[in-house]
Amino acid sequence: MSRKLILLLIITQLIQFSVMGQNNDRWNAGSAKQLAGEVVTLIAFISTPDNSWNDKDKEAIIEELVEGETWLSEQAHNWGVDLRFKQYLLNNGNDIVFNKIEKLTAKDKRRGSWVYRTLKKLGYRNSKQAYAELKEKYKCDNFQVIVLANKKGHPYAMRYAKGKSKRKKLVEGLIIFPEFENGVQMTVAATHAHELLHLYGAWDLYEHFAQTLDRHQKAQELYPDDIMLKVDYSITNLNVNKLTAWLVGWNQEEEEIFEWFRPSNYSK
Ligand SMILES: [Zn+2]
Repeated sequence: MSRKLILLLIITQLIQFSVMGQNNDRWNAGSAKQLAGEVVTLIAFISTPDNSWNDKDKEAIIEELVEGETWLSEQAHNWGVDLRFKQYLLNNGNDIVFNKIEKLTAKDKRRGSWVYRTLKKLGYRNSKQAYAELKEKYKCDNFQVIVLANKKGHPYAMRYAKGKSKRKKLVEGLIIFPEFENGVQMTVAATHAHELLHLYGAWDLYEHFAQTLDRHQKAQELYPDDIMLKVDYSITNLNVNKLTAWLVGWNQEEEEIFEWFRPSNYSK
């Protein structure tokens, strides 16, 4: 290929990115780059000395993670996008033990998220160094760490954005629990898919501190079964609709209303 052609290709790609126009500080930033092609999931089981994981529960939760990822691949396929997941177990699938798995406050999270703490416990110096080593070891540059904590809690995504600390946040991931704090069993397959979509740029469409009731209601009207609006014990009742597909780069047809759904905690 001529030099000129290569340059032209690069420029065209840059233009395409800016036209897609969302979250370019998050796309291609951190370890979870784009929800396309091959994506690697590194699974870490964390527990406390008095509450270890048992093999049966480990197998059950992995099965649900795989179900969520298979569903995501199918959804991508419906949008004409190739997406394949590969899963690996960190620490050979053995528990990574902490004295305490506490709920982190905003200040604690600044000191180090559960992904960061897990990597440190595995012997990595920091997130940047872990990224380099994990990338080499698993021959991938598009991955996330799924921290599975054997206690009750609320799941969330740990994202990296340009400008944030690479030492603390370059490796992106999720924390997922078998049960919510109120004892309700977690819908792991759908929750996992929902949180993974956050890592790749998706917005919540249900009402919460950063999302308003009128947007929730509009989403119910326009995208009633979207996984960012609700989760379900049966993931097959859900889909990735136009807006979410646009946010993660699967749908190239931007609509004017999309921007209106931007939650207050997602700056441009
Ligand atoms: Zn969410």
